Amino acid sequence: MKVKKFDKVLVANRGEIAVRILQGIREMGLKTVAVYSEADRVAAHVLRADEAVLIGPAPAAESYLVIDRILEAARATGAQAIHPGYGFLSENAEFAAAVEEAGLTFIGPTADSMRVMGDKLSARRKMRSSGVPVVPGTDEAVTDPEVATRIAGEIGFPVLLKASAGGGGKGMRIVREAGEMASALRQTMGEAKNAFGDDAIFVEKYIENPKHIEIQVLGDGRGGAIHLFERECSVQRRHQKVIEESPAPSLSPQLRQEICDAAVQTARAIDYRGAGTVEFILAPGGEFYFLEMNTRLQVEHPITERVTGTDLVSAMVRIAQGEGICYRQEDLQQHGWAIEYRIYAEDAARNFAPSVGKILALDLPQGPGVRVDSGIFEGFEVPIHYDPMLAKLIIWGENREQALARSKRALEEFILHGPTHNIPFHLWAIQQKSFISGEYTTNFVGEEFDPEAWLPPLDDDQRQAVIAAAALFEANRRSDSTTAPTTPGSSRNHWRLNARRAMTGNR
Ligand code: ADP
Ligand code: ADP
Ligand code: MG
Repeated sequence: MKVKKFDKVLVANRGEIAVRILQGIREMGLKTVAVYSEADRVAAHVLRADEAVLIGPAPAAESYLVIDRILEAARATGAQAIHPGYGFLSENAEFAAAVEEAGLTFIGPTADSMRVMGDKLSARRKMRSSGVPVVPGTDEAVTDPEVATRIAGEIGFPVLLKASAGGGGKGMRIVREAGEMASALRQTMGEAKNAFGDDAIFVEKYIENPKHIEIQVLGDGRGGAIHLFERECSVQRRHQKVIEESPAPSLSPQLRQEICDAAVQTARAIDYRGAGTVEFILAPGGEFYFLEMNTRLQVEHPITERVTGTDLVSAMVRIAQGEGICYRQEDLQQHGWAIEYRIYAEDAARNFAPSVGKILALDLPQGPGVRVDSGIFEGFEVPIHYDPMLAKLIIWGENREQALARSKRALEEFILHGPTHNIPFHLWAIQQKSFISGEYTTNFVGEEFDPEAWLPPLDDDQRQAVIAAAALFEANRRSDSTTAPTTPGSSRNHWRLNARRAMTGNR
């Protein structure tokens, strides 16, 4: 890579991650450019950039995913570098190549690294040849159910059929016995073709009761790499994370070191440049296997920033400016405990189905140990076109116990009216025995969350009635208490909290 200094950066993304990246770039004294679709004319990221360029209609395929539109926006504004965020074009090797071909700097890895890691089969082959342990399974695509069944017999049922091009928890199917193989393979191939335009499927051992442990890495693009320790991401629904924490509870120092070493080995094997995440699956017996590498900034990067005292966005920019890795391994330590809650517009009672609507009221929690990365504001209409993640609540404590106590406090203070959201789900999760013990696995939600027993959310009329009742109650209480002072802090919070609890089904 030819190193070119730049002073204006375009962020090719939307939502909370675009806001987060714009903040980091501004702090470095660089100018910022946002891009937006017609659905995002007044979105949070647009309001926070020095300049903003409309790149097309609401559907991502006509705006945030159109390489030429983004390059054109960079040209028009004179931006010399592009940060892709996560999702959208962030792991698209053609995009990275096109950016560099246009004479701009791509703030991320090379197109080659993305090609190797973007395809799960080629990543497996690369890792196997580099001596990093991969999940037992095939390194070639499988189309014949008989072949798949034979392989499954060799590695042992249950197995996982996985789309080589898959991502976001999609394109996976568990097969528990030979009889299920033919139809499972056909269906997974069809889904993969549909979702990713590629029907390559491989067979992998399904690890029972595992933990998802991932390691943040930074590479200099010349074979140098460091790690920033682990994140435990086993609280998942539909194979997608909803709560992450760092450090991982119940990981011995020795195992931590071994996994971190394997991640650094992974980054070195491909001369990785920039920030990346190496994901591992950890079996109950302590064996761990490479799952995949995400060649981008990760959703849950803030918990790593919090415990290591680093700034990953600025680290990415500095690497892209040719400064190399701005941290030294020996200076990095995990300090305290950080937990992230992804705040999704989704309905836990309806199998976490996405929800949309206008943000009617928003009051973010504050105070010690609280960080909120958000892409919303009061009055914002959550578009149906994109990922339903609205914000992330990141909590830090001196230890896990304090982080959990703060989590409960902050989740209770988080006022969000409008679309159905998963704050009540988080409050449920952090009060479960297995979560508190830290012994939870990726089965946690599937086994312990019971949508049937979940209080269904209220409909709009009921919501209005609850708000009116709570307001009336509060007005009466205030007029009653004009002579007698109340306990500090109790009045306002209480009716809001009660109203919110009633509206979101949180008991
Ligand atoms: P992380 O691994 O950073 O925790 P997620 O798996 O939650 O990330 O995905 C991050 C974002 O990227 C989400 O918006 C998700 O929808 C999107 N995403 C991930 N993989 C793909 C893919 N292969 N195709 C399209 N979108 C994807
Ligand atoms: P994606 O690209 O969709 O993120 P991953 O390969 O990272 O796909 O897997 C996503 C999740 O699926 C993991 O975090 C884990 O919960 C589950 N998973 C993946 N592979 C296995 C496996 N071999 N055994 C058990 N669970 C798995
Ligand atoms: Mg993954």
